[in-house]
Amino acid sequence: MKCFTHSQSDAVGACKYCLKGVCTACAKDTGIGIVCSPECHEQVKLLKAMMDRNKQAFPIAAKSHFRNAILLSLFGVLFAAFGIMERSDSFTFRFFLSFAAIMVIGAVFSFLIARKFAKSSRT
Ligand SMILES: [Zn+2]
Ligand SMILES: [Zn+2]
Repeated sequence: MKCFTHSQSDAVGACKYCLKGVCTACAKDTGIGIVCSPECHEQVKLLKAMMDRNKQAFPIAAKSHFRNAILLSLFGVLFAAFGIMERSDSFTFRFFLSFAAIMVIGAVFSFLIARKFAKSSRT
């Protein structure tokens, strides 16, 4: 690969943002990769800041989803218990049990999302 700006020079790498080839004369090391111009440096800095923010948000998101999962399963158990207490009345029984099922499904989803967030924050 040749440098995008200097067609005679061999490229030593590619700009982290626009992926153009850059030679030693025009490559700028940002610490997280090389860039071809100050404009690309700004973009890379913005991207990095965004990624760092996301990483910080992951454990918080995971925690809140875990809390939701626990809350929903508690509600599920509660509704199931109500249903079983009222099982002489088949309508109320079914009503409470379907609520319980919805809560449990919600809990499972929250748990899965939480696990995904927790995993992303570790990598
Ligand atoms: Zn660039
Ligand atoms: Zn160059």
